[in-house]
Amino acid sequence: TAGASSSAPVAHNAVPPPSTTSASRSSRIAPHSHIKGLGLNAEGYAVADSGGFVGQVAAREACGVVVDLVKSRKFSGRALLLVGPPGTGKTALALAISQELGAKVPFCPMVGSEVYSTEVKKTEVLAEAFRRAIGLRIKETKEVYEGEVTELTPTESENPLSGYGKTVSHVIVGLKTVRGTKQLRLDPSIYEAILKEKIQVGDVIYVEANTGAVKRVGRSDAYASSYDLESETYVPLPKGDVHKKKELVQDVTLGDLDAANARPQGGQDIMSVMGSLVKSGRTEITEKLRREVNRVVKGYVDQGVAEVVPGVVFIDEVHMLDIECFTYLNALLESPMAPTVILATNRGNTIVRGTTDIYAPHGIPVDLLDRCVIVRATTYNKEEIAKVLQLRANVEGLQLGEGVLDTLAQKGVDSSLRYALQLLTPASILAGLSGRKEIQLEDVSEMGELFLDAKTSSAIIEQRET
Ligand code: ATP
Repeated sequence: TAGASSSAPVAHNAVPPPSTTSASRSSRIAPHSHIKGLGLNAEGYAVADSGGFVGQVAAREACGVVVDLVKSRKFSGRALLLVGPPGTGKTALALAISQELGAKVPFCPMVGSEVYSTEVKKTEVLAEAFRRAIGLRIKETKEVYEGEVTELTPTESENPLSGYGKTVSHVIVGLKTVRGTKQLRLDPSIYEAILKEKIQVGDVIYVEANTGAVKRVGRSDAYASSYDLESETYVPLPKGDVHKKKELVQDVTLGDLDAANARPQGGQDIMSVMGSLVKSGRTEITEKLRREVNRVVKGYVDQGVAEVVPGVVFIDEVHMLDIECFTYLNALLESPMAPTVILATNRGNTIVRGTTDIYAPHGIPVDLLDRCVIVRATTYNKEEIAKVLQLRANVEGLQLGEGVLDTLAQKGVDSSLRYALQLLTPASILAGLSGRKEIQLEDVSEMGELFLDAKTSSAIIEQRET
């Protein structure tokens, strides 16, 4: 396989790929960075303020049962429906479920209204979300030189990529390995990676024996081939006794493979497919292409090279989907490679979109509702809101002055937790403008003058109308 492996997207704790969808996905997950799991004990009971979760005890425990069902493969064909007012942690619960299912389990959140795009068919948006929620762990055994950098020539100040570099024919990296020190001569282009990764003497890196690809352990990749002084060509590195076999693991999703393969230059080889992930612009993904990707993937699974990691697809504001989408969703749930499906809504009895006369609980047709396990998320009291605010302040490194937490928590009670949370960052900016590190009450009250919560704003309009 080619050495052009790239850091691949997917899981909540992995590097996101350079696509707009994933950028919006990670920005959607960022407000939940304090959530580390459901915070349950071994018996499945919620532990107070654990996993980054405050309160919401019954919902967390119910979600724990769902995790058990998924793990024992007794949840297929079904979906979890989270019901509750805005900002009661439905997204946080869904994320926590994916975390409980295992490390690097893909979490693919979307909002119902996302299906109404002018470019892509509604059902296509759903299909893609489902594909992005199926992870693949690809294992590869490579021979590498791994060791500590003892020598790096030229030095950074003599960067061969700046004008000086035109005369540099190779980069020398001295590597102290378990079996001794080895001097590797690498292609000058490697310097880009060396600079980017800030590889310095003392760092541990590895160099792939066959391709000369260089990787800083635990960091992103860089590539070069070795340079043979006598033949003045780049050749594979000689196999010395400093070799060691290294298992490299790549995490991608079926959606990534679809996207990469939709490009004309995309090969069938998984590594080259992943290499092409970094290039932008794409053509259409068809059902035929998906089947082809599935076939290749199945081959890798059969060979033991790849392992399927089913993830979680989360559809917030599911009442925004229409009857056509719901029908398709039913079909997707039936497919053998379906991820865990979590739906969320804050609507009660309402019309099913795309129909004129079908009213149903949560605007979800009964045939889909029948497959759903429903869990309710309840609103928070002031103490709980204060705890969540404090958690977020800690994560964001914000200091709260006297009385600030209490005032913000009260605002949370009066409007919503989400509103109170959203005041934190702008308030910290105001504090910064006043040359303070700590958010003080005056910042919070200034916020109140500048911005309205939804209830106040609609009350003002109503007053005007009467
Ligand atoms: P919506 O109905 O708008 O989709 P939601 O119910 O999905 O809202 P979230 O977005 O999950 O609500 O919650 C709002 C914010 O509060 C997030 O930052 C979330 O992580 C945090 N949060 C909500 N509930 C809890 C909780 N019980 N413990 C800790 N943090 C929480």
